[in-house]
Amino acid sequence: MWKKIIIAGGGTAGWMTAALLAKSLGRAGFEITLVESPNIPTVGVGEATVPSFMHFNRLLGIDERHLIKQTKATYKLGIQFVDWEKIGNDYIHGFGALGDQAAGLPFYHYWFRWLKSNPTAKLEDMSLCAVSGRKRRFVHPDPKVNPILGGMGYALHIDAGLYAEFLKQYSTERGIKHIQADITGVNLNQKTGFISSLNLADSSVLEGDFFIDCTGFKSMLLGQALRVPFVSWKQWLKTDSAQVLPTALTQDNFVPYTRAKAHHAGWQWRIPLQHRVGNGLVYSSEHMTDQEAEALLLEQIDSEPLMAPRKLHFEAGMRERFWEKNCVAVGLSSGFLEPLESTSIHIIQTTISRLVTLFPNADTNEVMAKRFNAQATFEMERIRDFIILHYALNHRDDPFWRSLSEMRLPDSLEEKITLFKKTGYIHYEDGDLFADTNWLSVLFGQGVRPENSMYMVNTMSDEQLDKYISSIRHQIVSLTDNFPFHIDYLTRLLKS
Ligand SMILES: Cc1cc2nc3c(=O)[nH]c(=O)nc-3n(C[C@H](O)[C@H](O)[C@H](O)COP(=O)(O)OP(=O)(O)OC[C@H]3O[C@@H](n4cnc5c(N)ncnc54)[C@H](O)[C@@H]3O)c2cc1C
Repeated sequence: MWKKIIIAGGGTAGWMTAALLAKSLGRAGFEITLVESPNIPTVGVGEATVPSFMHFNRLLGIDERHLIKQTKATYKLGIQFVDWEKIGNDYIHGFGALGDQAAGLPFYHYWFRWLKSNPTAKLEDMSLCAVSGRKRRFVHPDPKVNPILGGMGYALHIDAGLYAEFLKQYSTERGIKHIQADITGVNLNQKTGFISSLNLADSSVLEGDFFIDCTGFKSMLLGQALRVPFVSWKQWLKTDSAQVLPTALTQDNFVPYTRAKAHHAGWQWRIPLQHRVGNGLVYSSEHMTDQEAEALLLEQIDSEPLMAPRKLHFEAGMRERFWEKNCVAVGLSSGFLEPLESTSIHIIQTTISRLVTLFPNADTNEVMAKRFNAQATFEMERIRDFIILHYALNHRDDPFWRSLSEMRLPDSLEEKITLFKKTGYIHYEDGDLFADTNWLSVLFGQGVRPENSMYMVNTMSDEQLDKYISSIRHQIVSLTDNFPFHIDYLTRLLKS
């Protein structure tokens, strides 16, 4: 049995890995060590999450209120997209359901039919999260009050540095050994090509049976030592740079959603926390210089900067395999998709959970790796398609946006969009992070409408349909009117 697990790197990926392994494998006789550099900083961003983040922390047994206090978090109900389809257009992609479930057919098919006689209606009015977000209100949904509330989802905006610190304490208290040292080399077994040990700066050698690469973009174990190639998706995801800048919190920017505002060669995020606002401009260096990006970000922020902007460089894509020999990459070392839908922390979670389920020994390593890599590739490509969707379906005139609306899409995405346009049907599968309602929010937000509707929706008369949709709309309005304001809810929660 492989017993000695080494985690290389202590950013969000390293400490999330350590925490889940401590919880799951730590008690099964494994010896787990995390080694991180005291000199090389973490990437220092990653503040918006998706609802699965709540499940991950519950799985670790972490109390939500405690987590919110420790990470200076706020609640998140979705993402507001400003100027993405065209300048002046604005929609919220809310978490959770749209409307309710009627007669076995997704609600939105009824809504499509209703839309024909109500062409100015907005899809987001059918999303509890979007409506609640616009009103700056939040509450923990209780389906006993109204079944519609069962369809509500939420996530958090967190201070990623504090989250890593919090998990460091969690993991070391549960038996994870912590070493602070620079890794200076990776040693391979001459015969098998497997990693046998890591050289540390103090000349010690750290031996292990299984290695987890959490060294960030440099991918020191999987990319550099094991030479697993990087598959670039730059032809579809053209942004490659970001300027990052925290600003002061104000009453105005304390909203329970992330804002993503499009600019002529990229987009800007705004993420409110309890003690500051995270801001960043993601852009294509081919279409905007670093100086322009910095100036644009400083001009666009809506509160006082707390430091000078910091620049980051990245490339969209993934390693051809996440698992090679006796090494799995987690986090930025395995690949990167820009933060438009806040998916990186989610991918860290699924990668570690998959590893815990498929954890190998010398006999099972090869077959487990094969299965793992197939699942990881499926997941990354599906999320990639969803992110490309936001860019591809635009009607803007700037050269950056035109190059995106005119590009050839991955076949998988092209097929999905065509199917929706023709039929209103949205295909998704088990293991997809983004379900039909997520795709629909963005398809509609970007101006796409289905040409046909499903026969089953004709089981209602026009009058019945009108009554049905109006009743859902009325329930969403009156429920959210009674939610407390997000700021009051959080203030009360922090005092309790
Ligand atoms: C612009 C931008 C915005 C983002 N926004 C979001 C978001 O809103 N939501 C989201 O989910 N994700 C977001 N992400 C992604 C998120 O930041 C990362 O997925 C997350 O922080 C995990 O990073 P990591 O731990 O893999 O790498 P890092 O944070 O880079 O950590 C690497 C670790 O490896 C260590 N290390 C490196 N080399 C050595 C060495 N030689 N020896 C010892 N240790 C070493 C470092 O010291 C560090 O501890 C964003 C990313 C970027 C670039």
